[in-house]
Amino acid sequence: ADRLQTTENARRRFVSDASHELRTPVTVIKGYSDMLSRWGKQDPETLQEGLTAISSEAEDMQELIEKLLFLARADQKRQIINKEVVEMSQLIEDVFKKLELTATRHEVALLQNDAGKIFADKVTIKQMLRIFLENAMKYTPAGGEITLSSIRLPGYLKVEIADTGMGIAPKDQEKIFQRFYRADTSRSKGDEQPGGTGLGLSIAQWIADQHDMGISVESALGQGSKFILMMPLCDA
Ligand code: ADP
Repeated sequence: ADRLQTTENARRRFVSDASHELRTPVTVIKGYSDMLSRWGKQDPETLQEGLTAISSEAEDMQELIEKLLFLARADQKRQIINKEVVEMSQLIEDVFKKLELTATRHEVALLQNDAGKIFADKVTIKQMLRIFLENAMKYTPAGGEITLSSIRLPGYLKVEIADTGMGIAPKDQEKIFQRFYRADTSRSKGDEQPGGTGLGLSIAQWIADQHDMGISVESALGQGSKFILMMPLCDA
């Protein structure tokens, strides 16, 4: 009964947090559409500003809803995982090529890419790596460095995603994997810093758990962060 109660409480908190997160973009969209209907028809500048803002808020909302749906499917054990033998050096190569195209504000490097096979779902593993890399880009000022490396160890492939960004305070390091948790330092929505949802790392954690992978963090405020994934090899 206790366990059921805990699950029920977590479910309620999830629904309440999700509603709360959706409220802001909806309020902004409503505000801009009211503005447009009052003044947008006459003034082209107001019109453009309103349309841009609505489109950007809708995009954030879409992203948030995709993440909520992923977690809902995961909770209901409906998230599809198709495991096969995957050569990680190939997958990392693919992910890195895309990173090079998207990371226009940062220096990126693939430091090491050892061969190694894991038994995994390609789609979600890529999704997990993208979450770490997108965070590295989000929380690292322009000009900073983002590196990826994959190192073969006995029984494991150690995959590291490192940045030279704002870092994570020790008190936050455990909590960042909780749903909706965001460190105070990253809450201020500056120009350089797009606001997040606090859901990325909980999705990454779920994907890692499905593959018996461990995640650890090394970080110092103002110096950067390194996320380390220990992936069990199936060709060890
Ligand atoms: P989001 O990035 O959408 O806020 P995440 O769950 O991906 O949500 O991350 C949770 C929090 O962890 C972020 O809000 C940020 O405070 C912190 N964080 C994650 N990755 C990094 C990083 N590479 N550098 C600094 N802080 C990070």
